[in-house]
Amino acid sequence: MLNIENLQATVADKPILKGLSLTVNAGEVHAIMGPNGAGKSTLGYTLGGRPGYEVTGGSVSFDGADLLALDPHERAAAGLFLGFQYPVEIPGVSNVQFLREALNAQRTARGEAPLSGGEFLKLAREKAGLLRMDMDMLKRPVNVGFSGGEKKRAEMVQMGILDPKLAILDETDSGLDIDALRICGEGINAIMRKPDRAVLLITHYQRLLDYVKPDFVHVLAGGRIVKSGGPELALQLEEQGYEAVAA
Ligand code: ADP
Ligand code: MG
Ligand code: MG
Repeated sequence: MLNIENLQATVADKPILKGLSLTVNAGEVHAIMGPNGAGKSTLGYTLGGRPGYEVTGGSVSFDGADLLALDPHERAAAGLFLGFQYPVEIPGVSNVQFLREALNAQRTARGEAPLSGGEFLKLAREKAGLLRMDMDMLKRPVNVGFSGGEKKRAEMVQMGILDPKLAILDETDSGLDIDALRICGEGINAIMRKPDRAVLLITHYQRLLDYVKPDFVHVLAGGRIVKSGGPELALQLEEQGYEAVAA
């Protein structure tokens, strides 16, 4: 599904990704772990096509297409979802408006009929339910006044509605209390743990991986994947730290 080869990227002319290679197949969950400043968020933003993240080498194919040749909205319509480490607030735009516009823009780009208001609300109610989110919250402006945990749950509702092929989730577990962590973990499983879906789970901690069991764990350090393994690698990192395991 995703094939990253020798990816190099700069931010503000500073090289951050320095030859990163990674293959993610349909049906797989890959955890990316690594110290602060390793380039984890940069990887997510570069794959998402965020302006300012300049690719200087390497290639990325997504579902057979050259991902790097697509604009960000085309990447999204092709089935790529990026969950932000710090979800943004959008005053004046309700979640319902935002999500319906986003979904229907993607459906239109794929040649699918847009959902009617009624169809959309039914879908939104179903996905909000998965994340134990009240529909009243979805009527409020995007993330305005939401707690850290509510923002992350709102991101997961968005993911459920957009139903991407590949979700890149950047520290979805940061700022979550124990209950919200479990709810988000179960939501990720319900939405993404399918044979034709895949997840790149960027996280600092083992705890989210107790709920969303990764098939592979990678350590990102200095802009590259420096070590890969199975779920046991995350436990080893938690016990011994990045320096001991990936030096
Ligand atoms: P991580 O998510 O692994 O903590 P990031 O990808 O956020 O790491 O950051 C990787 C490196 O890129 C850090 O050294 C950070 O300071 C740098 N960086 C990120 N954004 C910018 C920017 N806009 N300008 C300059 N340096 C940046
Ligand atoms: Mg980060
Ligand atoms: Mg960061």
